[in-house]
Amino acid sequence: MKADEIRIDNLEVFAYHGVRRDEKENGQTFYVNAVLYTDIRPAGREDDVSLSTNYSEICHFITNWMQETLYDLIETVAETLAEQILLNFGAIQGIVLEIRKPHAPVGLPFESVSVRIERSWHQVYLSVGSNLGDRAAFIKQGIDQLEEHLLIQVQKVADTVETEGYGFTDQPKFLNTAVKARTLLTPRELLDQLKLIEDSAGRTREVRWGPRTLDLDIVFYDKLIYEDDRLILPHVDMENRYFVLKPLSQLAPNFRHPILGKTVMQMLEALDTDKD
Ligand code: ADP
Ligand code: MG
Repeated sequence: MKADEIRIDNLEVFAYHGVRRDEKENGQTFYVNAVLYTDIRPAGREDDVSLSTNYSEICHFITNWMQETLYDLIETVAETLAEQILLNFGAIQGIVLEIRKPHAPVGLPFESVSVRIERSWHQVYLSVGSNLGDRAAFIKQGIDQLEEHLLIQVQKVADTVETEGYGFTDQPKFLNTAVKARTLLTPRELLDQLKLIEDSAGRTREVRWGPRTLDLDIVFYDKLIYEDDRLILPHVDMENRYFVLKPLSQLAPNFRHPILGKTVMQMLEALDTDKD
């Protein structure tokens, strides 16, 4: 089910965005339409504005943002503004944002040009592991770096588990945990970020499944099913990995795998049974 909506229609803002110099000097009128996805029920039942996202505040926020920035493209206005709204109003889960520019210098009769984007927070579960050096310190460093990223908000971290290596057993024991987070990054942007964090922990890629200072995997990204040359979601092998499922079962026991149709707990129990 989609969340409730707060709608802002045709908020009029005078600002200075545009590629041309005269646009930046003289300014023009823009119109902003926004649909904010949030849970309205608590405020609606109590008739209490402090429980809601205050739309007057949002209107002022939009106006200020558009007047304090100076971009060539309305694409960039939309992108940065959507991000700022999601970062500054924690109860807003997603936004559809349209920026209209009725006086764009087109030189032909037209009503307006506009861009419309949809952006939202995404629920992700990550697996974090290390089997080289000060394993706990590398894991902590990895999670700290996730937390420092503006577009990633760590919500919960599971207890660590220690296991034998996987696939390639002649190596030190692994320490693993799982992280629940929400992010504004796309799946590929998130993967790139995880690789940067792995690299800064000094990870080199010699042997697949071999010793590593830090391994960060995306296990689930919402209920997304996705595959390209670098990324497979949900993580392709998670249902066979005790060290992924055990910590994850602490954070999301009832999260259901979108392809296999089993919950995390059911996948973990199936592994335990296989071992017997
Ligand atoms: P593993 O994590 O399976 O133990 P690696 O960390 O060496 O092995 O990952 C190998 C490659 O797997 C990465 O370079 C990455 O591009 C790819 N990959 C595919 N899907 C994912 C995912 N969901 N999360 C992280 N990496 C992934
Ligand atoms: Mg990995």
